[in-house]
Amino acid sequence: MRGIARKLSIVLAVVFVAAACGGATTTSTPAATASALATTPTFDPMSYMSKLQTNGKIRVGTQEDNTPFSVKIPTTSKWEGFDVDVARELAKAIFGSAADPDAFIEYVPVVSATRIPSLTDGKADVIIKTFTITEERKQQIDFSDVYFITGQRILVKKDNTTIKEAADLAGKTVCAQKGSTSEQNMTKATDGKAKPLLLDSYPACLLALQQGQVDAVSTDETILFGLVKQDPNTKIVGKPFSDEPYGIGMKKDSGGDRKGFVAFMNTWVGQLISSGTWAKLYEKHITPVSNDKKQTPKG
Ligand code: GLU
Repeated sequence: MRGIARKLSIVLAVVFVAAACGGATTTSTPAATASALATTPTFDPMSYMSKLQTNGKIRVGTQEDNTPFSVKIPTTSKWEGFDVDVARELAKAIFGSAADPDAFIEYVPVVSATRIPSLTDGKADVIIKTFTITEERKQQIDFSDVYFITGQRILVKKDNTTIKEAADLAGKTVCAQKGSTSEQNMTKATDGKAKPLLLDSYPACLLALQQGQVDAVSTDETILFGLVKQDPNTKIVGKPFSDEPYGIGMKKDSGGDRKGFVAFMNTWVGQLISSGTWAKLYEKHITPVSNDKKQTPKG
């Protein structure tokens, strides 16, 4: 019996080492590989998490210029922001916590309108990019449980005295990102009377506001906090006029090809919040623009 047990443990060790090395050869340094070996989590071999380990990476769709959530620093090509650090925590949960999580992440740049196609076309494994969970989107993709909550508000130039709330956007030119809930909410709040300028990023919307091409920018309050920080000649007005609960987007399971992924993700999101890591990430990335602190997405 002892002989069999010993053989089995050797076989398991070889399989384990092969899987871990296969997972790390393409992207990590030998040091990262060695330390990852010690902590690589084990999953059901049929699960999507196990498939990701075999692939050696997770492809994370996020945006290059979405402060304070995700930014690719042009000079260093390094990624920063709340969503980026959430992606790094996710990579640690799948590949092991000791290694540099970026060794296991392939960042796939997306904009709001390309989030769902990136998943359905198989270009990204997850979307972590200020992605509001909606019934309409849930028809096409799956979402994790909520990991961030905000609401839509309005950004105008500091000297603007005419726009004070959502209804005042009627007849005004308003910038939002193409394919966003911001676009839909603005239309709803003004009975279709706002004139939308739809662009592919919020910095582009800010430029349009600075150049007088639009009267306002309207999107999630936390994104607007980031824009005000960039341009103190702007201000945020009105109460939030929508609920924007963010989830992590995933392709829907088809024939078992995403086995266990949503359940794993929800357990992990719960732990991210209950462990206090979420609050630390909030303080690091959101507090500098929002001036508040939160322990959980609800407050
Ligand atoms: N949270 C909104 C959405 O998912 C707006 C922000 C964005 O476009 O990234 O559509």
